[in-house]
Formats: sequence, structure tokens, C-alpha cells
Amino acid sequence: MSHQIVEGLIGLLGEKQVLVGEDAAAYLTDRHGRLRGNAVCVARPGSTEEVAGLVRLARRFGFPVVPQGGNTGLVGGATPDETGNAVVLSTVRLNRIRNVDAQDNTLIAEAGCTLSQVQAAALDADRLFPLSLGSEGSCTIGGNLSTNAGGTQVLHYGNTRALTLGLEVVTADGEIWHGLNGLRKDNTGYSLRDVFIGAEGTLGVVTAATLKLFPRPASQTTAFLSFAGIHAVIGFFDRARAHLGPSLTAFELVSGLLYKLVESNVPEQPLPLPASAAHWYVLLEISGVDGEEQVRERLAALVGPAIERQLVLDAVVADSPAKTGSLWRLRHGALGEAQRRDGPTIKHDIALPVSRIPDFLDAGARRLNEHTPGIRPLVFGHLGDGNLHFNLARAPGQSPEELLRHEEALHEITYDTVHQHGGAISAEHGIGQVKRHVLPRYKDPVALKLMKKIKLALDPEGLFNPGKVL
Ligand code: ZN
Repeated sequence: MSHQIVEGLIGLLGEKQVLVGEDAAAYLTDRHGRLRGNAVCVARPGSTEEVAGLVRLARRFGFPVVPQGGNTGLVGGATPDETGNAVVLSTVRLNRIRNVDAQDNTLIAEAGCTLSQVQAAALDADRLFPLSLGSEGSCTIGGNLSTNAGGTQVLHYGNTRALTLGLEVVTADGEIWHGLNGLRKDNTGYSLRDVFIGAEGTLGVVTAATLKLFPRPASQTTAFLSFAGIHAVIGFFDRARAHLGPSLTAFELVSGLLYKLVESNVPEQPLPLPASAAHWYVLLEISGVDGEEQVRERLAALVGPAIERQLVLDAVVADSPAKTGSLWRLRHGALGEAQRRDGPTIKHDIALPVSRIPDFLDAGARRLNEHTPGIRPLVFGHLGDGNLHFNLARAPGQSPEELLRHEEALHEITYDTVHQHGGAISAEHGIGQVKRHVLPRYKDPVALKLMKKIKLALDPEGLFNPGKVL
């Protein structure tokens, strides 16, 4: 059977675009190398028509299809299961920017375009595509859509869903839904676009999208601040939002423990402020139509009094492009690197009402410490959106193996605490295969039932990405 499938795919795509054996290996494991799967082969269609042809073959032979973009996902959503029955559909060759319209402020990108390619195409037209995340050099827009990715600019611009006007999708019937019209308003029935966004490839294959563009901000100013406690951070966030309005475009949190870890593990990263494990740190960005000088004045008017009142301990403003770059490298590069060099962590991507973050952090730390005395929560994330990356690093003297042995229990304590504080167990990474088994514990049962009905209606034979989400 698998021979026939490979032959069929070669007939459709040509020999070079159907990978087996060694050539396929990189597509069968996730970014961290923790999840490994199997597949009949990896297929790399070069057009939407070829994707549709592949899906029709899947129906004929009954093989599942696992769509994969840049393979940078964090929940195993793009990794096939171990059965080896599936075909991985890599979107790597669907990489054309089809259109940029500076007047309508829209851009049509194929699913396999990297996020940085989309950003660059927008800049070429003197526009901004604001989605921004650590993996933007290799993640693809199709993956961003399928996970409804967030990143560091959600506070003002919204997540991928909010940045999308239309989609082109290959359905389980092997048909193409042409939904790329870039209308800002279209009330002609169900929002199909929103069904496929965030579906993690379980309902159809997104092949292209019409994305929203924005004017380029005349200036961007970045600052780094330290705080004595999380209540002070949230108090300051309220003031910053009131004072800066929509020009506050990023408010990124770093815990003192993690910042201290950057100091010890990533010496090549310059630190803008001295590190203390007891403090909290924030990277703040202001974008706007004002000139740089005016922005600086507004920032000084916000931060000066806050320092006097000791709400803010210390602050630095990046006064050159090099320093701005260094601050963002700290956020996008060094935080992750510091953790990798420390050893494995138990990762959580959680959403909470901002007002409940201090209580959650208190309760979480207490319960996790009761389970594993000395365990180290490394906290960072998009505080303005209530989205924390809450990673647990081993206690002093604990071995990595010992930490990982308790992974399930530590997840449960964390997620139970998130749930009790009105939060969600995934904010921007998705459910994939990693969180699938815990989803029913926290998701509203009626919501789960409706999700299953949608899956059954759009993909009755279960061709798309089996074993993910549901
Ligand atoms: Zn994030």
C-alpha cells in the first residue's frame, strides 16, 4: 500500500518532491527533538492545485495528512504519530507573496512564506505587518494561522486571527475554498475563516491568506524597567495603558529568576539593568505617529513620577538602534538560550486575566513547592495580554531525569491553578498532541462537543492531522 501511495504522489508532484528515508527524517521530529513520528513519506506540493490533488489521493487511499510549515511549533501539532500511516504535507514550496496592496492595506501570502518574508514584503510597500515572534525567521504564515499565533505585538494589533481577512483552504473533499477577498466587512454567513484559524490543521489545509497591513509607525521607542514585585508591574501597566493609549505596543515581562539566569548562562548578552532574583523586569515598546523626541517626553512623563513613587525601581531607554536590537535579542533570543543551557524545563503557555496574575503566581509557587521543594518557575511573556510562559526548572540538586519524571503531576498542579484563576491552558501555542489528553479536564464540555461536531462535519473521514487537538 505505501508503495502505491508513494507512486501516486510521485505521479502528482514529481520524484524530487516526495521524500523518504533519511531525506524525510527532519520532518518527522519536532523542533526540540522530544517527539518523534513516522510517515509513509513527506510530500512537498508547489501549488494549491497540487495540495488539492494530494488530498484527493488521501481520500482514495485513506492515508491521513499532517500539514507542516516551519516545524517550529511547541506542542507537536505538526509531527505525525508513530503508526507511519500518514503523509506529511510540507508547505515549504508554497512560498510566494501573491499580492501586496498598499491602498487596501492587504497582502496575500502563501502558507509556506516565512513570517519574516511577510514582514519584509510589507516593509517594501512602506507598510507594517505587526505579527512578531521569536521564530519569525523560520516559522511560516500557515503555521501562524493554524496555531493562531500571538507573539509580542498582540497588545495593540491582536493575534493572527485579528490580522487575517481571508483564507484559501483545501477541504477534505479535495476542493479549494477561495476565500481570499480582503473585505473588512462581510456578513454573508458563518465566519469560515475563523473555523480554520487555530484549528491546527485538523479541518483543512490552509494554502494562502489575505493579511492586514498597517501604516509604519513614525517612531518606536523601547525601554527596560525593573520592579520590586508583580503588583507594582501590574499597577504600572495600568498607568502605562492609560497614559500611552494605543501607542503602547509591547509590554513584555521577565521574572528576576530568569533574568538572573541570563546573567549566569548567557554572558554574551548585555544586561540593560543589574540582575536580582527578587525583582521583575519589563520590556516596553511605544510606537506611534509622533516623532522620537515627543515619544521620549511622554515616556519620561510616565516613568519619572513612577520612579519617584518607587513603583518603578529603575529604567533605561534604548537610545540607539543597536541598543533597541539588543533589548529585543534579550527577549527573543537570550531568555530561551538561558533556559536551554540550564537544562530541560516543564513548559506552560497560559492565559490569565491580568488582574489575577499575582494571585496565580502566589498560589502556583506555593503548590509547586509543596510538590517539589525548590522548584524554579521561570516566568516571562506578554503581560499586557495576560499570557505567561511559565516554565518549571529543576530544584537545586535535582537531576533533569527526576524533574521530567514528575512532568504530568507538575502540569496538573499548574493547569489546575490556572483553571481556578479563570485562565486557559494554552494562550498561543495551541493544543497539538502534547495537551490533547488534558484538554477535556479544563474545556467546557459543551464547547468540546461542538468542536467534535465541527470536526465530524468538515473532515468526516478523519484525514487531517489525526491525534491533534481532539
Ligand atoms: Zn509567547
